[in-house]
Amino acid sequence: MEFVDLKSQYQTLKKDVDRRVLAVLQHGQYINGPEVDDLEIALADFVGVKHCVAVSSGTDALLIAMMALGIEPGDEVITTPFSFISTAETIALLGAKPVFVDIDERTCNIDPLLIAPAITSRTKAIMPVSLYGQCADMDTINSIAAECKISVIEDAAQSFGATHKGKRSGGLSLIGCTSFFPSKPLGCYGDGGACFTNDAKLAERMKSISLHGQTERYHHTTLGVNGRLDTIQAAVLLAKLEKFNEEIEDRIRCGERYSKFIGSLEKSVTTPFIDSMNTSVFAQYTIQVDKRDSLRDFMASQDIPTAVHYPRPLHKQPVFAEIVSSGLRLPISERVASRVLSLPVHAYLSESEQDSVIHALNSFYN
Ligand SMILES: *Cc1c(COP(=O)(O)O)cnc(C)c1O
Repeated sequence: MEFVDLKSQYQTLKKDVDRRVLAVLQHGQYINGPEVDDLEIALADFVGVKHCVAVSSGTDALLIAMMALGIEPGDEVITTPFSFISTAETIALLGAKPVFVDIDERTCNIDPLLIAPAITSRTKAIMPVSLYGQCADMDTINSIAAECKISVIEDAAQSFGATHKGKRSGGLSLIGCTSFFPSKPLGCYGDGGACFTNDAKLAERMKSISLHGQTERYHHTTLGVNGRLDTIQAAVLLAKLEKFNEEIEDRIRCGERYSKFIGSLEKSVTTPFIDSMNTSVFAQYTIQVDKRDSLRDFMASQDIPTAVHYPRPLHKQPVFAEIVSSGLRLPISERVASRVLSLPVHAYLSESEQDSVIHALNSFYN
């Protein structure tokens, strides 16, 4: 069993992927080829926003979004401590300070009630993460931000395809950023990402920053980065996008089936809580349990791959030791980090494989 089965997916999509990738090899425009423009249009349409800028990774999407907003040394960005390193890394790379506030134990997303007290005169943005495939409470976060005239950047690296009150993740705030890392819900065959916005000026600025701050060839008006998406990756994504809605349905079916059967172990295992205003794409199917590490060892002994997202909250990462006060306690993140375990979930996981996962969990607890 694979934790994420990219080989089965390729076998299913092979004809389309091969045709589109071969077309790029034939025309040879490996950088800024026509597939990149086509993909930006298709992705903006999928998310339901006016503009998409395809970029080189989810990490670069966050960096480029914040550069476009003018985030600079001395600024503060409020974010969650319970995420992949990129979320806070990009804030710190710009010389700004990640201000961590704790999460909601049920969703593992930033707790909106804790945001307002963390806002200072230096706060420039809030960066919620839509973790495990489910959006943060974006409407509440947007209204807090609007009151204080600060920007909201959704880190939608795990939630591409998810909805919040019927609208797609990535299009829920001023800027949404996603990742096309191979194992994400929509993945390419290398690194890739995208920024989404309805603001034409911001879109133009993000595009320019992704092209070395260039406005015309060899005319550079701002500092930028080499942040383009490769044409071959755009071709892969165009092929995968055609099947993506179906894959989302299969992921949801798998997640809901797990919850139905694992839910009967209720006392020992907390299954993912999906808020009624959300649909999750189950980037991860993450349970919360006591004795997580012994469960993980047991699952490995049954040949069931699992993962821990994430074992150490960001405010406890050594790299941030100098910018986070050593007394900072974020008890929910710290507790959850010792209890989470992600089970295999993807669109190609058969029911009999799902049953093996459920069976192994049952054996551990009985
Ligand atoms: C994967 C991920 C990123 C970074 O995306 P890359 O494409 O790997 O750079 C950022 N934030 C979160 C929450 C992620 O899961």
